[in-house]
Amino acid sequence: MLQAARSPLRLVEIEAPTPEPGQIQLRVRACGVCRTDLHIVDGELSKPKLPLVLGHQIVGEVAGDGTRFAPGQRVGVPWLGWTCGECRYCLAGQENLCDRARFTGYDIDGGYAELAVADERFCFPVPERYDDVQAAPLLCAGLIGYRALRLAGDAEAIGLYGFGASAHIVCQVATAQGRRVFAGTRAGDDETQDFARSLGAVWAGEALAGPPEELDAVILFAPVGELVPAALGHVRKSGVVVCAGIHMSDIPSFPYELLWGERVLRSVANLTRADGDEFLAVAPTVPVRSEVETFPLEQATEALERLRGGRLRGAAVLLI
Ligand SMILES: [Zn+2]
Ligand SMILES: [Zn+2]
Repeated sequence: MLQAARSPLRLVEIEAPTPEPGQIQLRVRACGVCRTDLHIVDGELSKPKLPLVLGHQIVGEVAGDGTRFAPGQRVGVPWLGWTCGECRYCLAGQENLCDRARFTGYDIDGGYAELAVADERFCFPVPERYDDVQAAPLLCAGLIGYRALRLAGDAEAIGLYGFGASAHIVCQVATAQGRRVFAGTRAGDDETQDFARSLGAVWAGEALAGPPEELDAVILFAPVGELVPAALGHVRKSGVVVCAGIHMSDIPSFPYELLWGERVLRSVANLTRADGDEFLAVAPTVPVRSEVETFPLEQATEALERLRGGRLRGAAVLLI
């Protein structure tokens, strides 16, 4: 449990959450660790409920009765936990931008816990082919990565800069779609570059320096503002740079020439339920395999620190 920003997570005994109307109670089996969790702990996302149970890639088993789900069924709980259904964004099919959206593991207690409750309208059935650990990273890393890939358009040569949990999944989907993936990492990160090549990337090297050929699009997963002008310099005219993270260090100023030529710079925010349905149908057909390092719940802080240091291969998942 997080008591305050920039303080260590504490393992505490709390009262079991009771479901409100429309919610189901879940016995949590696994919960993915996301960079967003780190931004919350570090106070870069500054308005969490406190104290807070982190975690928004929950795989759980329905403990009580639901309307959509039966007791014992496996469900996934993503970042988007509730929307108002009546603001201009909700009405326009852009519920990811809802003015009053509530997010799992931020506004609502999440899955770094034995029990959780969730609005069942925002939960997904977990595809059969995935076990709990394999399924967890699909729920944010996979899902938001997939939305970013869609917003990158029909790019054939696509850069994925910051090759962590999200990129390692998107790389598999993009390759299966016949695109060529160019993986950008920190300088000298040979291990991650080898990992990217093993998943089908045609090039892997330092993100800031960029690949030896012009790209059609770049998706930035690393929260590093310097990569924005760098990536704009790596895409062709009318190429797209998509910022997929929820937080990024400041973007340095850059000459207009980098944006000229109808290059597009955009962000991706959150997810819609339609994104989830679509991605969870696509993932087993690729088939996406998540590379996972598991940690017991007690080592949540260790998992976050490994993520901070870039010392993870693929995704981190807590076993509850
Ligand atoms: Zn996330
Ligand atoms: Zn709304």
